[in-house]
This record gives sequence, structure tokens and C-alpha cells, in this order.
Amino acid sequence: MNGRQDELPTIFERSAPGRRAARPPRVEGPAMADLLGAEVLRSAPPALPEVSELDLVRHYTNLAHRQTSIDGNVYPLGSCTMKYNPKVHEEVAAAFEDLHPEQDPSSVQGLLELLGTLQDWLGTITGMDDVTLQPAAGAHGELTGILMIRAFHEANGEGAQRRNVIVPDAAHGTNPATAGMVGYDVVEVPTAADGEVDLAAMKAALGPDTAAVMLTNPSTVGIFETRIQEIADAAHAVGAQLYYDGANLNAIVGKARPGDMGFDVVHMNLHKTLTTPHGGGGPGTGPVGVKAHLAPYLPLPRVRQEVDGTWGLEETRSTSIGRMRSYYGNVGNLVRAYAYIRSLGAEGLANVAEMAVLNANYLRVRMREAGFQPAFDRTCMHEFVARPPEGISTNDVAKALLDEGMHPMTVYFPMVVKEAMMVEPTETESLQTLDAYADALARILQRAARDPGALAEAPTTTPVRRLDEVAAARHPVLRWSPRDEDGEAAAAAD
Ligand SMILES: *Cc1c(COP(=O)(O)O)cnc(C)c1O
Repeated sequence: MNGRQDELPTIFERSAPGRRAARPPRVEGPAMADLLGAEVLRSAPPALPEVSELDLVRHYTNLAHRQTSIDGNVYPLGSCTMKYNPKVHEEVAAAFEDLHPEQDPSSVQGLLELLGTLQDWLGTITGMDDVTLQPAAGAHGELTGILMIRAFHEANGEGAQRRNVIVPDAAHGTNPATAGMVGYDVVEVPTAADGEVDLAAMKAALGPDTAAVMLTNPSTVGIFETRIQEIADAAHAVGAQLYYDGANLNAIVGKARPGDMGFDVVHMNLHKTLTTPHGGGGPGTGPVGVKAHLAPYLPLPRVRQEVDGTWGLEETRSTSIGRMRSYYGNVGNLVRAYAYIRSLGAEGLANVAEMAVLNANYLRVRMREAGFQPAFDRTCMHEFVARPPEGISTNDVAKALLDEGMHPMTVYFPMVVKEAMMVEPTETESLQTLDAYADALARILQRAARDPGALAEAPTTTPVRRLDEVAAARHPVLRWSPRDEDGEAAAAAD
């Protein structure tokens, strides 16, 4: 923002020996060394900053004010569904935080019932027969799903024959990466002029060597695949499995179900569609739903209700792909999703999809009026892809948005559209906010029209200006080190 902001000290620089917050009275009890064994104790205390409570509050409050977040303003990051997540879900999740994953199931019946119920609901929402809550993110859900598909083909004696996974060229990078990790070759199919998958190319790619087709619907260009039934039939006709990347579930939740479209496996990004703040790399959650023929391969342990009505964990199943994550998954996020579904109900979830699609179409038309060009000029789902007028770069527009106090859209993705801007306003933004975003974008284009070099300077109001992006990627400095006498930060050690 200005020189003073830039010099915001780190928490280590605020440290002064002996300074501290309130200290509770010492409680008599067994010594730590007796409880844990002396060999696990530190010989010297860790080099933690010593600060007062006020120093601490100021440090984090000032840091929070330096970033652009959903709590501050609209955050229409396409493909990420940066919706507002009601704070009450944090309270609900906190109610479970004292449980320990090693507790005996008999002492966590309430939690297991919650997880079992959530499994059922997620199956109902996606039209799937069974669900695992284990995977820790969407990409992890993809890995789980493709491993199950591989196990299915192997059980049918077709493991060696089915070598390929078909992925559209507009897909998220995690799709081909997942297929590659599981050992498959990736076959890419192009996007047709209308924004949908090229059906003829898809049919030509399908064959007895196809293990799976991975699709996102609506796709990453925000368009619903209207020929999905035909794609599903063609895939199943050659014995391939159809995988649904559920990152865009927000567009259809409560309205349509991947299971009814012919998908065999679905992952859901709970941190996108079903509440949980994300964006800082915090814990994600990617439950996976399957049709009955894939249920034998689900990871363990599985939450299940026993015949006597109590809740327990299924720990052994010979056909399972095994354990994908410790314990039951990211339980805090599962509790948030449960609370979100309960508070919205079936009608509220359908309303999410309706408003998300309406908001995206409103902003699409307003941006077109301002001079942006839609990549596919047709009704979109919950997001759309546009580009700036000739001669103006998407990067410059994104940087200029930061000076307006607004988070940019996703930029330069998907790669099938040059200068792509992928905009997803979500259902939680009001008409006034959408108008403010469109107005800001219109102002930016007008500035660029008056003075073609004007945007090159942006952002001018943020704590840091344009970064050397190549250096940030190639030589990232990830660790603080003490400054020397001249005030220069020492080079990072690793
Ligand atoms: C976000 C996203 C993923 C990956 O999900 P993570 O939870 O970030 O691992 C996969 N596909 C699409 C289309 C996405 O938008």
C-alpha cells in the first residue's frame, strides 16, 4: 500500500526476550517425560517469537488487511467457486475439535452417525450408490476414482488391455496428471466450436483400450455438455468407465445428477460446492461416489451402521484399493458440509445452482456490453470464459482489478482460449456487487482506451506491485531469516 505497509515486521521481528501473554497457573501432575518418554522431549526450547497478546493481535490483524479475500470483496475465481461460507459452520465444526481419531468408535457414535448420514446425502445429491469421505481434495478424489476403475478392469481380466484415459483439451490439469499417476496414457480430445467436447473425435478415440473418460460437466469453459448421454452410451459400449470431475457441481447441485447422466464415478470438491473456506491451500475434501459395480473397490475404513443400529468402521474388504488417507478424512470439512446441506435443504441447494447460473449469465452479458468478448457466445452455466478487446492483455486487466480492491477472475485458463478470463461470481454475490464488478471492468477498458500504457503500471495500491513471476516460481524464498546489520535479509538457506 505504501512504504509503511511494506515494512510490516514479521512476528519474529516483533519478538523481545521474555515478553509474553497471560500465563495460566502451573497444574500439578505427571511430568511430560514420564508420560511420553524422555527421548521425545526437546533438549532446548524451540526458537519461537516472544510477543505480547497485543503484538500478536496487531500482527495478524494487519496481515489480514493486506490481502484480498472473500470477506473483503467479490472473488470470482473461475473453477474455484469462491462462495461465501457462513461463519456458523465454523462453530459447528469447532464443536467436534476435541475428539481424537484414535478414540474407540463406541465413544464417537454421534460423529460416525453424522459421517454416515453425509455419505448417504452425497450419494443422493450425485445419484451414486455409495460414497467414500476419505480423499483430502478434488485431485485426491480423482486418484481414488481412477485407482478404483483400474481395480475394476483388473478384476475383469482387462487390466493389461485398457491402457488409455480420454481427457478433453479444456480439462483441469489434475485430470491428465491423475491418469498419468495411475499409469495410463492420456488421449486428448478437442473442444468443438460450440464449446462442447468434439463428439466425433470422442467416438473416434474410444476403443477396447480405453479404461476411462474423464469429463467435467459443465465443462471448464462453463458450458453444459448437452450430448452427455450419447458420450456415456458410446463410452459404455466399448467397456470404458465414465469419470465425473465434480469441481463444477455448484452449477447443477439440486437440479441434475451425474449418476443420472451415466457417470460411474464422481468426486465432489466440498470446499467448492458444499462450504469450507479455501484459497490459502487449507484442507480440502474430495469425497468420491460410485455406482454399485465399483463399490467393492472403495477405500477403507468405511463408516457403516451395524445391524444393531450402532455405528462402526469397516476395516477389511479384500477387493478394496486400500487406505487413501489417515482415519476418516478431513473431519472438520465433513462437518461443515453436513451443516451446510442441513441448513439449505433440497430446495436451498437447488436455489444455489439457479442463482449461480443466473449471476454468471448476468455478468457475462454486462462484460460483453463493456467490450469483452465471450469465448463462446451462448448461455453459460455457473461460469464463463471471455477475453479483453484486441491489444489489451488479460494480465493487465487482472492487475488493474486489484487497484479497484477486487480479486481478479481466473486468468489464462483454460488454455484452449487465448487470453482467457474465466469468471465465476457464485450465488452469494448480490446484483449490486455484480454491477460494481462490471463497472470496474468497464472503467479499466476506458482507461486503457484513453492511454494504452496506463494498465502496465497496475497495481499501484497493493503492498507489493508486479512481481518477477519467473523468479517467484524458480527461486522461491519460503523461509524467513534474520536480517543482518545493514537490514538486508540473508539469502534463504533452502
Ligand atoms: C479445483 C479443480 C480440481 C482439483 O480440485 P482440488 O480440490 O483443488 O484438488 C479438478 N478439476 C477442476 C475442474 C477444478 O476446478
